[in-house]
Amino acid sequence: MKSALTIGTILLLSACVPTTTPTTETKPSTKPKTTATAPKAPQVTRSASSGVSAYKRVAQRVEPVAEAACRSFSRDMPRTFCDFRITVDQDTRKAPNAYQSVGSDGRPVITFNINMLRTIKNDDEVAFIMGHEAGHQIARHLVKKRSNANAGALLGALVMAGLGGDPTDGANLGGAIGAQSYSKKFELQADRIGAHIATRAGFDAIKGARSFERTGGSNSLLSTHPPGADRFATVQQTVAQIRAARAQGQTAPIKW
Ligand SMILES: [Zn+2]
Repeated sequence: MKSALTIGTILLLSACVPTTTPTTETKPSTKPKTTATAPKAPQVTRSASSGVSAYKRVAQRVEPVAEAACRSFSRDMPRTFCDFRITVDQDTRKAPNAYQSVGSDGRPVITFNINMLRTIKNDDEVAFIMGHEAGHQIARHLVKKRSNANAGALLGALVMAGLGGDPTDGANLGGAIGAQSYSKKFELQADRIGAHIATRAGFDAIKGARSFERTGGSNSLLSTHPPGADRFATVQQTVAQIRAARAQGQTAPIKW
């Protein structure tokens, strides 16, 4: 079951921004392969330092809102569960990406890489994506993905062994399928939570979600991401609910 454990570890990451190719889960600490994963030149809109400044500026406002939202759903979890760390991956070779992971100290980590920050058009986009990544933590998606991956790997190994094949191959395939089984649903859930967090932090979530128009989501059958149009519609619907509640002097509860 060694390979099943490996899959479970890799899928602790949630790569969230579809790039020009169907996105696979990307482990940030490993060196990118020099062939297939070499990024296409991103549509750069700003300098790296400007992108990092925007990121820090937005994080100051979004992080406390994300933490408060997280705590309201995580009373059964240790304090570290909602203590977000927000970081930048400075590797200029990687395709634009943002993802959530969990550090060795148990704290959730939201990482934007530097090319992502160079393609961001405005602070609303940073805020929405940051809220989306926090949403994965709030909805406990990494834990669910890992358990799906492990269940899939076990099933795959058993099926392959039954067919006389290599159980490791079965575990790899089953683990990948298991991890993807809820990915699209999870992305839409994170979009709903992200819309709430960005709005509560004072940003325009609809404007922020316009990055889907550039990335397009992905219609690939094997993609972990729903199409961009579905995601944008989800954000529009959520913001409409938030505004309707506000018009009555209320705060819309976060639902996903
Ligand atoms: Zn995501």
